[in-house]
Amino acid sequence: MGRGIDRFRIPPGARLRPQAWDGDDTSGFRGGKSAAVRELEKLRSRLESLQELLYAEHRHRLLVVLQAMDSAGKDGTIRRVFQGVNPQGVRVASFKVPSVEELAHDFLWRVHREVPATGEITIFNRSHYEDVLVARVHHLVPKPVWERRYREINDFERSLSEEGTSILKFYLHIDKDEQKRRLEERLEDPTKHWKFSLSDPRERRYWGAYMRAYAEALGRTSTDWAPWYFVPSNRKWFRDLVVCRVIVHALEAMHSKYPPLPRALRSLRIT
Ligand code: AMP
Ligand code: MG
Repeated sequence: MGRGIDRFRIPPGARLRPQAWDGDDTSGFRGGKSAAVRELEKLRSRLESLQELLYAEHRHRLLVVLQAMDSAGKDGTIRRVFQGVNPQGVRVASFKVPSVEELAHDFLWRVHREVPATGEITIFNRSHYEDVLVARVHHLVPKPVWERRYREINDFERSLSEEGTSILKFYLHIDKDEQKRRLEERLEDPTKHWKFSLSDPRERRYWGAYMRAYAEALGRTSTDWAPWYFVPSNRKWFRDLVVCRVIVHALEAMHSKYPPLPRALRSLRIT
């Protein structure tokens, strides 16, 4: 099962060169789209069973972090990878521009309260990483403040991990011209207008600065306890496949089991 996913895992301390990032890269996968769709179908039913086990066993927690530029497919990934799971045990937390109340606290405050409880999977649609991405690119805080956040994030995630939360982080990478196509489509297709935000073309102008911020964030916060995966995402079928493979692999590694009937109930007769 581990096949093909390790090459996307970012080694701790990696010095990444965003110039070399390629959203089209599917080189580790020999089959084409139809093979990927078939595999995804199988993985999804595996995910469904594993998630039920996680929920039933009530021992582990899983946090999935999704980060990407606009239109790279955070929403689509959530929809397509998690379709079919039991909504009782899976939750999505989306992080927007912080409210006045959120801004009055440390940047991890709003994040900590959304982390998964025992037996749960929580998906972060954006995350505390915005505080070293948008906050850095737009100088929302001074440099010494975002600089120390890499360490604060690593400490925070380490503590979650030591308390029993598995953490998987995905950066969905599309190329700049792929984003152009997708934003144009959002403008043209009436069923996609709602997805378009005026901030999308504005943020696009900071593409280079965002890529540098991502490169540094991924390199400095990919850790043994909370690894980052770089996911080439121009092709949606490949993106979904990589994310689903990594998640299924991590859930398999938990070796969850259905809890046995408590001793006191073993001789119970239903009358
Ligand atoms: P969307 O995910 O497309 O609905 O957009 C949410 C917006 O909120 C994006 O433009 C994010 O950059 C922004 N955002 C999320 N977290 C933060 C943060 N901590 N500080 C500033 N902006 C943020
Ligand atoms: Mg958006």
